[in-house]
Amino acid sequence: MILFENARLWDGFAEASLPGMSVLVEGEVIREVSDRPIASAATRVDLKGRTLMPGLIDAHVHVVASLANIAANAMLPDAVVAFRAGRLMHEMLMRGFTTVRDLGGATLGLRMAWEEGLITGSRLSICGKALSQTGGHCDFRGRADTRDFGFFAARLGSLGRLVDGVDEVRRAAREEIKGGADYIKLMANGGVASPSDPIAFFGFSESELRAAVEEAEMAQTYVAAHLYTDAAIARAVRCGVRSLEHCNLITEATAREAAAAGAIACPTLVTYQALKEEGASLGLGPESVAKIDDVRLAGLESLERMHKAGLMMAFGTDLLGPMHRRQSEEFLIRREVLPAAEILRSATSHAAKLLCQEGRLGVVAPGALADLIVVDGDPLADLAVLTEQGAHLPAIMQGGRFVKNQLA
Ligand SMILES: [Zn+2]
Repeated sequence: MILFENARLWDGFAEASLPGMSVLVEGEVIREVSDRPIASAATRVDLKGRTLMPGLIDAHVHVVASLANIAANAMLPDAVVAFRAGRLMHEMLMRGFTTVRDLGGATLGLRMAWEEGLITGSRLSICGKALSQTGGHCDFRGRADTRDFGFFAARLGSLGRLVDGVDEVRRAAREEIKGGADYIKLMANGGVASPSDPIAFFGFSESELRAAVEEAEMAQTYVAAHLYTDAAIARAVRCGVRSLEHCNLITEATAREAAAAGAIACPTLVTYQALKEEGASLGLGPESVAKIDDVRLAGLESLERMHKAGLMMAFGTDLLGPMHRRQSEEFLIRREVLPAAEILRSATSHAAKLLCQEGRLGVVAPGALADLIVVDGDPLADLAVLTEQGAHLPAIMQGGRFVKNQLA
């Protein structure tokens, strides 16, 4: 048992933090939160007024993407992909991200390795392979490459797999759920990092989208979809998609419809900034570089529109390869247009809602998992204390266990 004392507590929801709080951790869960001293035989940790808050959640990552060129990434040997994924997960954890949602690539094996303690890294919520139509955002073959479409499904370094038609979508969704997927990911719009799909392309027919949504609902889960353009977002919401990834070109009217439908958006602005600055030098193809500004320039305005429309947002980054080090810069980009408390909620309680883990993750409350970070400074006043690779996080706890502790 661990008893945190004299903490400035931010619980994952509130507009402000509370000084002088005590939090008791027993096993892997938070047992008690109080503004008075807690009588307990637990090991006492005096935080001396430092901030204690829920571990961060990045709701859009690809832990298998160790290269910026995702076509080349799909060709890496599986074992290399797995070891590099373990390193990326560890670096994410050390930045304070105790949980990440992987939007394509990570499979059951990585989660098993994490559960067995072979990897000390962020906890994973996975979709297995993202589903893409032929020529869609996970078809990395290039126009003249006619390899069989089944090639990608078997490669750990591939973010997705190719499926066409309602029956194939159903089979693939069922296979991913059987293989441990927590939700289903669809590529329902063109993308930057793939060779043959301009941003405005729709991915999948409406009947395919609805089939995936039905399969997910049969398994008590949801569909997340890769989306940029307003028309594609509106179509996805109409078909029952719950998790709207990126959303750079959304209008306020569609954002209002999405909010009314109970959808949650997951913008990922830092990746476009990183691709713009570093993509070409890291091997991103010229056809991809040419597409970056189609979505990058609209980013901040889309945040303002979604906020105004009351559409809940989760924190996402979507970084590739060496650009992963910029993960926490997303906080600073959003700060240009959003209040700090709202941004912190997006990386805690709102992300937990998106992951269907309300009350268990992203909150400091009795019964929640003890995923906690200790911050030198006040993130509500200055989000930069969450950047610099965890330099201002003297302690990180995951499931009741210290994975970093410099408090002693
Ligand atoms: Zn992604």
